[in-house]
Amino acid sequence: MNSSSVLGRKNHHSGESHSDSSKFNWTIEDSEKLYRIASWGEPYFSINAAGHVTVSPQGDRGGSLDLLELVEALKLRNVGLPLLIRFSDILADRIERLHACFAKAIARYNYPGTYRGVYPVKCNQHRHLLEALVEFGKPYQFGVEAGSKPELAIALATLEPVSNYLDNSPNTLLICNGYKDREYIETALLATRLGHFPVIVIEQLEELPLVIDIAQKLCINPVLGVRAKLSTQGTGRWGKSSGDRAKFGLTIPQILSVVNQLAAAEMLNCLQLLHFHIGSQISNISVIKDAIREASQIYVQLTKLGAKMQYLDVGGGLGVDYDGSKTNFHASKNYNMQNYANDIVAEVKEACEETQIAAPVLISESGRAIASHQSVLIFDVLGTNDVPSQPPQPIAEKEHLIIRNLWETYTAINSENYQEAYHDAIQFKEEAISLFNFGYLSLAERARAEQLYWACCQQILEISRQQEYVPDDLEDLEKIMASIYYINLSVFQSAPDTWAIDQLFPIMPIHRLNEEPTQRGILADLTCDSDGKIDQFIDLRDIKDILELHPLVNKSETKPETVSASPSKQPYYLGMFLVGAYQEIMGNLHNLFGDTNAVHISMTPKGYQIEHLVKGDTVAEVLGYVQYNAEDLLERIRRRTEQALQENRITIAESQRLLQNYERSLNNYTYLSS
Ligand SMILES: *Cc1c(COP(=O)(O)O)cnc(C)c1O
Repeated sequence: MNSSSVLGRKNHHSGESHSDSSKFNWTIEDSEKLYRIASWGEPYFSINAAGHVTVSPQGDRGGSLDLLELVEALKLRNVGLPLLIRFSDILADRIERLHACFAKAIARYNYPGTYRGVYPVKCNQHRHLLEALVEFGKPYQFGVEAGSKPELAIALATLEPVSNYLDNSPNTLLICNGYKDREYIETALLATRLGHFPVIVIEQLEELPLVIDIAQKLCINPVLGVRAKLSTQGTGRWGKSSGDRAKFGLTIPQILSVVNQLAAAEMLNCLQLLHFHIGSQISNISVIKDAIREASQIYVQLTKLGAKMQYLDVGGGLGVDYDGSKTNFHASKNYNMQNYANDIVAEVKEACEETQIAAPVLISESGRAIASHQSVLIFDVLGTNDVPSQPPQPIAEKEHLIIRNLWETYTAINSENYQEAYHDAIQFKEEAISLFNFGYLSLAERARAEQLYWACCQQILEISRQQEYVPDDLEDLEKIMASIYYINLSVFQSAPDTWAIDQLFPIMPIHRLNEEPTQRGILADLTCDSDGKIDQFIDLRDIKDILELHPLVNKSETKPETVSASPSKQPYYLGMFLVGAYQEIMGNLHNLFGDTNAVHISMTPKGYQIEHLVKGDTVAEVLGYVQYNAEDLLERIRRRTEQALQENRITIAESQRLLQNYERSLNNYTYLSS
């Protein structure tokens, strides 16, 4: 991932012809390559012959559905955009895959222990999702990890306690992480009476005396774990989750102190689990290996000190390949799920064999790798702002010198001088602005100068796209010339990580993929915040700062009956993929854009069915979060309208219209309607 973006750009443009006829030569294979859909989307997302994105929620084992048709069918049911679509079957497939990978690794290395997955609730807490996950996880006793009291509350209500199981299969784990107070610990311990199997992981030394006290008072023998602060440093964004100064976990001296305190309370046999979590989206497998090696040794040593160790919990960190590059770039990972399972199993086995210690039950807490793929966010484009691209009017005799200079530059551009012409054009444009500022150029003249400047840039860009090598100083031209696509979405609500930590998600049109995307654009959202934009996109090498998109099509050019937010344009839908982890709950109400509509789709033998529809926030709901009461607001406007009527400032028809609009918008979606 260290090659320059010159190369990245070259990949996309060399040899591409931008003549009109290329539009007809463009195939869905070209789109597949351009948007890299197979690399990040396999086996769930692909493109069909109609040029639409298709979803195969059961991977290679089930049917597929056309995403465009699904969106249009939902729109007919009044489920507007932006829209989050969750595919339950993808969730089931992820759970199966994870367990299959560990089963394979255990068989391959002859590992004497077993594997138990748990799902960290913080990754996506939505009820329908968690309920589905617990259901799909039953064959594997797939457990749950809670990191706070509210998460514990939903975990306890969602997991089925063991007494409800018909067979006497081992208990489903409920790992209790996070900072804990008396109430948290008491609730977790009492849950054992219901048939749950909580493991209380000590994250802070102060929690231990509380746990000992509560356990003794309740006469419950708790199963305890310790969270270790490993010295292995993660890499990338969450690298600081481990290491000596990490926020979480106990240092080795603190772990020893736990052992001593438990021994003193005659509870050392309760200590059974070692936990660590070195951060999310670990892109480098060697970091994971190092961490497992260190943790295995701590596990062995704890056993030697007399703890009845049984579980080694390797936390989260299993990455998702957002850009499909299979590298240790932060948006990717240089290993697959099988490599991950193999390395964990092999490392732990070796450490236990060497020291002749019983192999632990292996636990992992994968959130991102389980939840990301199942959600797709669909949104529409409201309009575009393009750099003016019409050829300028020929020069007239008496035009200002600076305009004549720009015209001359424009007409002389060729593949020999385009770099020099670029610098000239910039210089003349800057001069034109200076002249304007000193009063020597009229507004019309300045407009003419700017038009000519953009015409130069367009011409230069087209030449540079044909070149094998693009000089450094021209690199930004593609970005400068990019169109702005206004999207019906709030980045802060629906993809907060793109803004907060520059996370990359694959984004592409979900239709027209048999047509060449001739535009280059960035995405600007609905919020009045200059950060509300997306201008970094996945690429094989590095990051692209533009996305290839299609020009919007006027309605009259095609079917007149379609509706879109932009009354004169055909709808143009984009999809943001792999957004199922963390984005929803981290999303915020910036500019008071609320939750989007969400639907849960599951496959049936005949096609698909809508399992749940969760309507997004209305304006009134969002206003309620900031303590406004919709009725009060309406009443206030009603009174003011009445007064205006009394004073003949508004007609009765106008007042009705105003009140109707006001009332209706309170009950409507916060996004623009289509
Ligand atoms: C967040 C978190 C996880 C989940 O990590 P992923 O990288 O999403 O799999 C697991 N365990 C703990 C303790 C966490 O805090």
